Amino acid sequence: MNIAVVNENRGFERRVALVPAVVSTLVKQGWSVTIEQGAGLGAAISDQAFVEAGATIATDIAAIVGSADVLVKVSPITPAELDHLRSGQIVIGFLNPLGNPQTIGQLNDRGVTAFSMEMIPRTSRAQSMDALSSQASIAGYKAVLLAADALPRYFPMLTTAAGTIPPAKVLVMGAGVAGLQAIATARRLGATVEAYDIRPAVKEEVQSLGAKFIDVALNEETVATGGYAKEISQNAQEYARQVLTKHVHDADVVITTAQVPGRKAPVLVTEAMILGMKPGSVIVDLAADQGGNCEGSQPGQTIERHGVKILGPVNLPSTVATHASQLYSKNVSNLLKLMVKEATIALDFSDDIISGACLCHDREVRNQRVKDALAQLQVQV
Ligand code: NAD
Repeated sequence: MNIAVVNENRGFERRVALVPAVVSTLVKQGWSVTIEQGAGLGAAISDQAFVEAGATIATDIAAIVGSADVLVKVSPITPAELDHLRSGQIVIGFLNPLGNPQTIGQLNDRGVTAFSMEMIPRTSRAQSMDALSSQASIAGYKAVLLAADALPRYFPMLTTAAGTIPPAKVLVMGAGVAGLQAIATARRLGATVEAYDIRPAVKEEVQSLGAKFIDVALNEETVATGGYAKEISQNAQEYARQVLTKHVHDADVVITTAQVPGRKAPVLVTEAMILGMKPGSVIVDLAADQGGNCEGSQPGQTIERHGVKILGPVNLPSTVATHASQLYSKNVSNLLKLMVKEATIALDFSDDIISGACLCHDREVRNQRVKDALAQLQVQV
């Protein structure tokens, strides 16, 4: 059984799908691992380190992809990779199935079996494979560092001979995995932190990290099945913004992470709210590439409105590439373990993780949302 890893470090992706420690374990389990030359460089991992872990380094992308039983990726399949894929192969990665269903359709037409790391169920049993969480946590951490860098103030309280500096006030909106790590990081840097989320269940987690939870009494259901947030009504959103305005005005830093699966990100911070913020304040919008939690934020850019800097960083996990790759690699290898019985690939579709993460197999699109998206595309043609 051969696993292949390609070099994704050509654009803005610095992560690599497998790291040497995981390669070494896979080799001991009987896998042979082929790594494209330079694949680890973005994550500060040399070809030599992969060789020492038991991998083979190769340069010909057609041969690397073509001879793989399993191709492990971080980012979606590129057209060049697609060209070399054939029936019976397995691909695993953040395949962006709902953002780019065409590629999943093409993989299916070729008879490729595709697993999406985005679709791993968020259950206790699947926690060790939950790459959305391992990477979101990095994004939350890095968002705070970006904010601290952009803020013309200290984060911690300092008592010095030249006077006392009060701690920075940080407001985190959306306390999922990224938001909770943002709270923890801001607390470690000495800021006072407030947080808000429409899911009341996160209140205790927020408080246990030493932050104050802002209760906004929304008179409607805010939690969907599976524990995810629901899209709330326009009225409820408007009411939440009214309550939160004062907190936004008081904050030196606002970090927004709110998402509703399959929907445009909710607008939590409007231009009118920004107007009341102190000059020099910073907003980091982690949902900038999902439509934005903050009005005016631009994916991949920093803009300034009314003296407030608004950052819209994209792909933050890639900026912490070594550890992001380490965690992702472990998530993937835990998924691989479920696919192998007695040293051969044996996919058990009665397993909720295998069936939940599988997009297509045996020329059948198995994921209903991808099926619907593909049907929608056909209607448009
Ligand atoms: P996410 O990235 O989908 O959303 C981030 C946060 O935004 C969520 O906490 C959500 O409640 C919040 N949000 C949505 N709309 C909002 C609004 N209008 N205003 C304020 N906040 C809003 O979330 P996530 O981090 O991927 O976590 C989603 C769910 O998955 C949570 O229930 C989490 O506990 C659960 N989860 C479970 C496991 C597990 O059991 N293995 C692991 C990770 C996450």
